[in-house]
Amino acid sequence: MFHIRKGDTVKILSGKDRSKTGKVLSVDAASGKAIIDGRNIMVRHERPKKAGQKGQKIQYPSPIFASNLALVCPSCGKAARVGFKQDDKGQKIRICKKCGKEIK
Ligand SMILES: [Zn+2]
Repeated sequence: MFHIRKGDTVKILSGKDRSKTGKVLSVDAASGKAIIDGRNIMVRHERPKKAGQKGQKIQYPSPIFASNLALVCPSCGKAARVGFKQDDKGQKIRICKKCGKEIK
């Protein structure tokens, strides 16, 4: 099970945006990567399609390995390790290992 989900706030642990936080836009479990809003921005140069047209720079957030991301706990606000446990109904829930609160 992935410790990061869409909509989470995460802290980036490595790369050029290290120690910045951002919101998870999407998670790709197959590649183990997540896209963070406005982080790890890459620029793609688009060649002009027609003569006389200018080439374009297109900026897009590039996926980051989930192992380089730490979930920011909404309860204590710290970049925390995530634990898992089962609630009363047998559902797997995520808990913050710093404050022990459930992370929704
Ligand atoms: Zn916490």
